[in-house]
Formats: sequence, C-alpha cells, structure tokens
Amino acid sequence: MAIAICPGSFDPATNGHLDIIQRSAQVFDEVIVAVGHNPGKKHLFTVEERITLLKQVIKEAHLHNVRVDHFSGLQVEFARAHKAQVIVKGLRAISDFEYEFQMALTNKHLAPEIETVFMMTANEYSFLSSSMVKEIVLFGGDPEGLVPPAVLGPLRKKTKAGVEDE
Ligand code: ADP
Repeated sequence: MAIAICPGSFDPATNGHLDIIQRSAQVFDEVIVAVGHNPGKKHLFTVEERITLLKQVIKEAHLHNVRVDHFSGLQVEFARAHKAQVIVKGLRAISDFEYEFQMALTNKHLAPEIETVFMMTANEYSFLSSSMVKEIVLFGGDPEGLVPPAVLGPLRKKTKAGVEDE
C-alpha cells in the first residue's frame, strides 16, 4: 500500500494544487493532503477553512483515495505518523527548485526511509501560486479559472480585512 502526502499551505487551494493532487491520486494507493499551520505567516483562510475548502474540492473532483488532514510540525513526522512512504511536491519554475532541493535533502537526512517525489507543474498552471491568487483578490481582481469552483465563492468574499495573523 503506497501512501503519499501532499503538504502545503493551500491558502487557498488553486487549480495547480488540484492538478498535483489528482495526478498523485493516480500514482499512489492513498493520498493525504496535509495542510500546514505556519504561525506568524499572513493568511487569508484559517487552517479550518482551508481544510473545509479542500474537502469540497476533493469531493467535486471525485477523488476517492484522497483525504485531508493538517499538521504543525515536521512534514516527515506527519508522514511517519500516517505510514506514508512518499512526500509529493509540485515543481513550477527554477525558483521552486532551490528551496525544494534543500528541503528534500533535509527531509532525507531526518527520515531516510521517506522519498520525496517531484511532479512537474502542468504547463497551464506553471505561473500559478496561492500568493498570486491572494494578490489578485486583495486588489479587487477576479480569480475565476485559477481556483477550483468550491474555492471561488469563499475567495470572492474575502477582502483586505480578511487577512489576519495566524
Ligand atoms: P504556494 O507555493 O502556491 O503558496 P503551497 O505552499 O501551498 O503553495 O504549495 C504546496 C505544494 O504545491 C508545493 O509542493 C508547491 O510546489 C505545489 N504547487 C503550488 N502551486 C503549484 C502549481 N501551480 N503547479 C505545481 N505545483 C504547485
């Protein structure tokens, strides 16, 4: 039974995230989307809201072997606790590489039994990040086409006042 985790902030979940989650669900028996709690980081949605939205996104996409959870410690400890052998990361441009390379080697040092697997972004989402989506919304733009339908309504309701310290 190959279990993978897809960790991230998902603030909010984008079509780029969904693409990586869908592709992971085809490769692994079980996929756990792990929503990270990053104290001190500005956020648009609370962890609870992000989990609720991701659950809806996964339901809409009919991904029956995917579930959502949250973590606040090390990714490898979360993976171990859930008996996952693999951490899946999406890679966009060269800008993602250096950080992800460092993170993968650090995780390998901490937990040699866990593999990090990289999936190349889909061409149409290569520019897409949660921070870009947040900027669009905060400056009054419409994020249609960038996020799954379940995220669109709640995202449109957010205003500048909606960004809080965690
Ligand atoms: P972001 O970098 O957009 O704030 P997260 O920190 O939530 O997103 O990222 C979670 C995971 O999803 C990371 O592995 C990240 O590289 C990946 N990811 C995010 N956006 C995309 C995208 N557009 N294409 C491929 N992977 C992505």
